[in-house]
Amino acid sequence: MTSPLAQGSTIGILGGGQLGRMLSMAAARLGLKTHIYEQSAQCPAADVAHRVTSAAYDDEAALRAFGRDVDVITYEFENIPTYALDILQDLAPIRPARNALAVSQDRLTEKQFLTDLGLRCAPYHAVGTFDDLLQAIDKVGLPAILKTTRMGYDGKGQMRIANIQDAQEAYDAMQGSMAVFEGFIDFSHEVSVIAARGADGAISAYDPGENLHKNGILHQTTVPARLSANQRTDAVLLAAKILNALEYVGVMGVELFVTPAGFIVNEIAPRVHNSGHWTQNGCATDQFEQHIRAVAGWPLGDGQRYADVVMENLIGNDMDKVPQLTSQPNTALHLYGKPEARAGRKMGHVNVMTTPKA
Ligand code: AMP
Repeated sequence: MTSPLAQGSTIGILGGGQLGRMLSMAAARLGLKTHIYEQSAQCPAADVAHRVTSAAYDDEAALRAFGRDVDVITYEFENIPTYALDILQDLAPIRPARNALAVSQDRLTEKQFLTDLGLRCAPYHAVGTFDDLLQAIDKVGLPAILKTTRMGYDGKGQMRIANIQDAQEAYDAMQGSMAVFEGFIDFSHEVSVIAARGADGAISAYDPGENLHKNGILHQTTVPARLSANQRTDAVLLAAKILNALEYVGVMGVELFVTPAGFIVNEIAPRVHNSGHWTQNGCATDQFEQHIRAVAGWPLGDGQRYADVVMENLIGNDMDKVPQLTSQPNTALHLYGKPEARAGRKMGHVNVMTTPKA
């Protein structure tokens, strides 16, 4: 067990998007500082962090200076280049540890890990060549989805295959990247469990949220999710199993498909997760503070849900709704300070407490 970080200590965060911004705000509330490492010159986290390094992930000098300045390193995205991690790991502890990144950076490794744990994933087949794809269609069947094994997010890097005629187009869309062919799951709805594991091994999971996607991007999360008491327990135990297996320290998002035959794990994200933003207004300790507590070696906080919440993302020109939202009751607005409301860009979110409880 590591001793908890003292007041005024600095948490290094790789990535300065909205997740880095909200992690920095949570750290500040606990008297901790953050130092953001971000490639682009401007980023949402820069407005609220103690320090910012703007440099590429192959800039050895910048990585070393960053690593020496911080007491612990965490991240807000999973696709961190190995080169950067190799340098940083000797300078400060990385939490969650690299095994979690190795598993979640590659869809094939992730599915193998989950299957070895006894959890269920969509039937899948690795695809490197067009011949592999034809074999996958033969083995797994159609309809299906072809996804790049690495770097996919928000529905990017994936193509649906409804019939054999779609196969060539889907294969070409992968542009030679290694891909995974997944059988299409006929789920009733999608839920996610946001769970944390502390440095002492304690686990705290939030009530599962029900997620609705639009154009491959999360649109809305509702808590409570439509789940029976048994399903709720199963979902939380499943997430805890993953955290324990990885000896994980931090917050993780586990996305699940709900089917009559039980849960199927879609994917895991070794970081705070968009579907956990409701916790900011539904719990005493939100996912951002929980993550900061975990990586700082503090005890986990109280993650019990005290309100029903609907979280909705504000994407692109959803920003036009902001003037009306500012005066809507039971509504908490969270904006990321991004200058341009481009289509598909996450600009903020809103948490509406649908049945606020005392
Ligand atoms: P992903 O990027 O893997 O999280 O996928 C984005 C969304 O696509 C998911 O949240 C689902 O709505 C849908 N999806 C992904 N994989 C499958 C699958 N095997 N079967 C059915 N829907 C899927």
